[in-house]
Amino acid sequence: MSDRIHNFNAGPGVLPEPVLKQAQQDIWNIAGSGIGIMEHSHRGKVFDRVIQEAEQEARTLGNIPANYKVLFVQGGATQQFAMVPMNLLPKGRTADYLITGVWAQKAFKEAKMFGSVHAALSGEASNFSEIPPASAIAYSASPAYVHLTTNNTIYGTQWRTEPPVPAGVPLVADTSSDMFSRPIDVSRYGLIYAGAQKNLGPSGVVLVIVRDDLAEMGPKDVPTMLQYRVYAAERSLHNTPPTFGIYMMGQVFKWIRETGGLDAMAKRNEEKANLLYTYLDQSSFFRGTAHAGSRSLMNVCFRGPTEELESKFCTEATKAGFEGLKGHRSVGGMRASIYNACPKASVEALVGFMAEFAKKNG
Ligand SMILES: *Cc1c(COP(=O)(O)O)cnc(C)c1O
Repeated sequence: MSDRIHNFNAGPGVLPEPVLKQAQQDIWNIAGSGIGIMEHSHRGKVFDRVIQEAEQEARTLGNIPANYKVLFVQGGATQQFAMVPMNLLPKGRTADYLITGVWAQKAFKEAKMFGSVHAALSGEASNFSEIPPASAIAYSASPAYVHLTTNNTIYGTQWRTEPPVPAGVPLVADTSSDMFSRPIDVSRYGLIYAGAQKNLGPSGVVLVIVRDDLAEMGPKDVPTMLQYRVYAAERSLHNTPPTFGIYMMGQVFKWIRETGGLDAMAKRNEEKANLLYTYLDQSSFFRGTAHAGSRSLMNVCFRGPTEELESKFCTEATKAGFEGLKGHRSVGGMRASIYNACPKASVEALVGFMAEFAKKNG
């Protein structure tokens, strides 16, 4: 589409064009109701179908077992940093955190407000440029749960597989920046959460997948809107939910299914990431910052020869129609976020632009 540019924003990020087109129609008039999606009652028939479909599409995509609830929560992934320990960390117990980046650190710090926490792994020594080996994990005696961040959006690293956890201990995952970008075995987790704005939809809604027993275990004296059991019992409809966000998530899930599901999505994401990493590996101008074995397929972080040239690159890239390539303010450099909806053509165009820039400025 000629009036859209190449979008490498880290979040909110690019959404699938067919979904945006459908949403344009449904904002005006959904399902022949004469009313747009945002104007429907959350208790009405039309929205009831929307939320049921969103849940069903998520269940199909993730092959989610029947003993897990699919919830739609507000407050962003950041609110989950608090909700997880408020519900899953009983008094006197310790929660273990695998610290592989900024978001993991934030989750850890937030959990400290609610109980005892233990950093079972830290990538700080390598400045978070890699996921340390599982052999470096030192769990506490009997953790209430283990928390990890599957994809480190800011440093561009990603867990390849789940780490080993002590038998019977629930694994809790912040999958905000790689949810449904590859197959996921939900049964290996106790709770999975993902803020929508990277891979799943607009900001303002979080997908939570939680095992039934964990949804029910929290104390009953935490605020109503922060208890998983309330969302589970009332199908995320205790109060007015983010109806448009839930609609969009459902449409994105459907788009993933219709384009081949998670296996096909993973294959496309690998192809896109390989284009960039292969270019970076042979470039004498740019260099990737993440260790090869820990590279993220979602966020590709790289540096140029000097900060001056990096800033020139970002300025010229913006002029040439490549948006969002500046690295996170805490690490500098560049970052190309190539989420599910980022077309391969955008990545090809970026590699071409990088090669040309390197030739002119090298
Ligand atoms: C973006 C992000 C967050 C924060 O999400 P909010 O919805 O802004 O709270 C948390 N974790 C990860 C891994 C992220 O990428």
